Amino acid sequence: MNPQTLRNTLPVTASDTDESLFRDIFYEGTLEEYLTALGAAGERVAGFLRNNVHPFSGIRPATLLASFKEVDFDTPLPDYDALLDEVQQLYIQHATAFHLPQYIAHLNCPVLIPALAAEVIISAINSSQDTYDQSAGGTFMERRLIDWTGEQIGYSQQCDGVFTAGGSQSNLMGLLLARDYYAVHHLHHNIKLYGCPPEAGRFRIFVSEKAHFSNHKNAGILGLGEKSIVSIPTDTRFRMDAVQLETAIRQELAQGNIPIAIVATAGTTDFGNIDPLQEIARIAREYSIWYHIDAAYGCGLLLTDKYRHLLHGAEQADSITIDYHKSFFQPISSSAFIVKDKLHLNLIKHHADYLNPPEQDYDALPAQINKSIIQSTRRFDALKLWCTLRLMGREKLGKYTEIIIETTQQAAVLIAADPEFDLLSDSDLGILVFRYHPAQTAIDLCALNQYIKQSLFFNGEIIVASTKVKGAFYLKFTILNPLTTLTHIREILAAIKVQGDNWLQQPGNIAV
Ligand SMILES: *Cc1c(COP(=O)(O)O)cnc(C)c1O
Repeated sequence: MNPQTLRNTLPVTASDTDESLFRDIFYEGTLEEYLTALGAAGERVAGFLRNNVHPFSGIRPATLLASFKEVDFDTPLPDYDALLDEVQQLYIQHATAFHLPQYIAHLNCPVLIPALAAEVIISAINSSQDTYDQSAGGTFMERRLIDWTGEQIGYSQQCDGVFTAGGSQSNLMGLLLARDYYAVHHLHHNIKLYGCPPEAGRFRIFVSEKAHFSNHKNAGILGLGEKSIVSIPTDTRFRMDAVQLETAIRQELAQGNIPIAIVATAGTTDFGNIDPLQEIARIAREYSIWYHIDAAYGCGLLLTDKYRHLLHGAEQADSITIDYHKSFFQPISSSAFIVKDKLHLNLIKHHADYLNPPEQDYDALPAQINKSIIQSTRRFDALKLWCTLRLMGREKLGKYTEIIIETTQQAAVLIAADPEFDLLSDSDLGILVFRYHPAQTAIDLCALNQYIKQSLFFNGEIIVASTKVKGAFYLKFTILNPLTTLTHIREILAAIKVQGDNWLQQPGNIAV
């Protein structure tokens, strides 16, 4: 085909067609459109902050779902006003407001403005972190932040890691390395190439009874089955009991099973307590077992000189999970997986000729894809943490963590001192598990506390979490907001009692 014929078969260019066809593409010709859209979207966010006095609208799922019926994807909306009206109606007005102290439920933090500014840049420039030719400065920014995090943990310069989508994914990487490391070093078997060896049916992973459920799911994903998980009982503060851990390891060995990993939790999702990291490190070393620490929640302690001693022993772990989107006040997603020895990351490297060919010198031309297991195309989430640390510094962030810890300690005193509440444990971080337990004897405490949680949620007033301990239903405070004060806590506790007393007054709830 000669060049002239080729040109004639190509699609028309922007200049000879209706301008509106390309109006929505982000490029130099649509700068005006972009800035207008951004401003309009920003206004809706401002409205979210101005109008939300409650953490939730209280809308019921059936009502919300019904309003989706009118949406027709074949009939586009005329302009941004119409679009954002719809987004507001279907989403923003019912969105959970994590920044309000009356939201005291899950591990969602209020987010920081420098990180939000970074989000604008991240999504528009849309770098992908897999290779240098898709993200030059981004590659080195991510690396510096990984190195910095490793330094805070107490690792040497031999450490390495990668940003991930979340703690569950980082935990998956930890168990994957543990599994493949064991197979390569003890069985001379490459799982990446040949799949699990017959011995894998006897691989065992030790976690506490309060470890995050992602460990169980990950064991399934890794072909080891949830049966490979050995749950270790916890002490009175719901931390892994190190003596029982050692006993369990011995038992498994005696039965011919193969311990491949211990996962300690630094900040349990239910109690915010930290497993005895140093004691577990000793056991891991003694039995030569991969030591992974799930610090998805507890990583915030790295920011504070006052409390970071709680993470002593973390520097001995082979790998660590960090969730910046929990305790570093980052917007979702922002998480990392860090290994003590970067050579271990070679276990997951896979070379694709079009991206990261084997002959390439990765010191000269780096490629973060070599360290990533699931994502190839990967968001430049690291810029959020970069902007946060550069503008605010570690010390200021650490203050937030200190305030949260101290508010929680005071709240624990308040709850413990009230004879109408049962408090199960204090917390190293920001979680309190308790229930309303008024003096009446013959009442169903689970039903009472379930009612409290539900009614507070559906009147939109307060969102508290819950969990079960030994089969019984408890309320749970997760304090992850430095703006939460003891006054808020008092108000929330009073509201809990009001709902509880409503329940008590309903016929049939007090046995006679
Ligand atoms: C939240 C949490 C996870 C999971 O992290 P995601 O970012 O939600 O995937 C893992 N472990 C612990 C202890 C957690 O609190």
